Amino acid sequence: MRKIGITTTIPSEIIYSAGAVPVDLNNIFITSPIKGDFVYSAEKEGFPSTLCSWVKGIYSSAKSRDDIKEIVVVTDGDCSNSRPLAELLERIGKKIITFGYPFDRNRKKLEEHIFELLNYFDVTLEEATKTAHALDKIREKLDYLDFLSWHDGKITGLENHLWLVNSSDFEGNPKDYENRLDDFLRKAEKRKEKNDFLRIGLVGVPPIFSDLYEYLESKGARVIYNETQRQFSMPLANRGGDLIDRYLNYAYPYSFTFRLQDIKKQIEIRHLDGIIHYTQSFCHHQMEHVLLKNSVNIPTLFLEGDRPAKLDERLKIRIESFIEMIG
Ligand code: SF4
Repeated sequence: MRKIGITTTIPSEIIYSAGAVPVDLNNIFITSPIKGDFVYSAEKEGFPSTLCSWVKGIYSSAKSRDDIKEIVVVTDGDCSNSRPLAELLERIGKKIITFGYPFDRNRKKLEEHIFELLNYFDVTLEEATKTAHALDKIREKLDYLDFLSWHDGKITGLENHLWLVNSSDFEGNPKDYENRLDDFLRKAEKRKEKNDFLRIGLVGVPPIFSDLYEYLESKGARVIYNETQRQFSMPLANRGGDLIDRYLNYAYPYSFTFRLQDIKKQIEIRHLDGIIHYTQSFCHHQMEHVLLKNSVNIPTLFLEGDRPAKLDERLKIRIESFIEMIG
């Protein structure tokens, strides 16, 4: 099976339509038992310690996988480091295909990028649209899973995070993913409703800490809105129109002002008590906290992580104080 590495969510319908399988390199990195070694081995090659660990993790994950020969790198709308990363991946023998989300959300520009991808994979727009509609069956179930999280409290923040984050590539096997999702939903539906926790929104990139969700739950708070991961699942509000419209509605790669529209809406719908804004050390997204805290009417906590690890004591105290304050 032809495996295509991806560095963030792209129109994976195109890859599936070509009979290939997308592999999200972020997920390979963060689910690896040796994720810390991935970061160190990139540093041994000369990657600076003052560079985001996700970039180093993506590089080493790609390097560790001989079965991934082609990688779609999103050079516009994702990471400011992605262009040099693409060159470094090329240097170790990977074929690089670039994709971009135009910052101004210009339809024509996005259409051009999507058609370049369609041409590369020798797929028509009709074929990719058909695949998108087939995948919608799974996405509807993810909408339901998200509903069970924030409305019924039957799903933990970590479970919500894992299912939604893995929908960026459906773990390379949509059918298998769907079967396991069905099984999980059947069990979750039988759980008791739970709403006696503080309601937290987690905004920003998926956290690199391994115990953030559990720590919050141990303190009586639960993440019921995973902003970016929810976008990966292409929720109902994004699914109208054709393939181009869908990826214009996909908020994460565009401006923070655009993302704020959805964040504000979810604060109301989900009755959030507070927002934790997670960002990586050395990431340009950190600046967006100024926009966030000045635009929402609930308390926000800025949380920064560097390497894959558990929360340290200093961070635990900050989180605990935040929870006490909003409680
Ligand atoms: S966290 Fe920031 S710097 Fe790191 S990969 Fe993501 S966008 Fe790039």
